[in-house]
Amino acid sequence: MSFRSQAFFDELPAGYREIRLYDVNSRRFKLITGPVSFAVSLIIAALVFASRIRFSADNLTVRWHPLYLLHVLTVIALIIGYTVLHELTHGLVYKILTGRKLSFGFFGSMAYCGLPGVYVRRNVAAASCIAPFVVFTAVFAVLLYALPVNIFWFVLLVAFMNHIGGCFADLYAFAIMLRRGKDLLMLDNGKDQHVFVKDNGAAREFREGKS
Ligand SMILES: [Zn+2]
Repeated sequence: MSFRSQAFFDELPAGYREIRLYDVNSRRFKLITGPVSFAVSLIIAALVFASRIRFSADNLTVRWHPLYLLHVLTVIALIIGYTVLHELTHGLVYKILTGRKLSFGFFGSMAYCGLPGVYVRRNVAAASCIAPFVVFTAVFAVLLYALPVNIFWFVLLVAFMNHIGGCFADLYAFAIMLRRGKDLLMLDNGKDQHVFVKDNGAAREFREGKS
């Protein structure tokens, strides 16, 4: 399809050079992915909770029961299942927009989904990057406002917090991709990503990426 042929290259075109989209070791990145993402996800979860609950002692009474351990296991299962679905959503967008073969696997405790050997244009990379945030925020919003507030609802709320926190690096990358401009290309091998920009003498970007 024609939109697909516009979406990617099989080889890096001449005149491009690799840059770092962001530096995972930079203090700014660590600050955002750690405490800031946790605080933001906690605040959003608290707002969802406050909007669903009329604060009264009755509503907030939760008696401990050994069966609640099941809910802890449910949280863990939801988080693992979410991680896989999140990566598949990145991959699904790549698949739709390029038609190329994906790679999928586990890297330690992290799932990954990539598109090896394909240099996708900025808009494809950005669409794939933001897709899990858009899709699962909508799914969680529907569930958290449609389901009754009970123990399972709290389980979902924890999974929702995990989703918001887990999307922070994606949102950060998405914002930088938009700022870098349309000429950006991305090679996403799943375990590692490489970003390229047109080499029109902007050596300053390279130094910026290394800082
Ligand atoms: Zn992601």
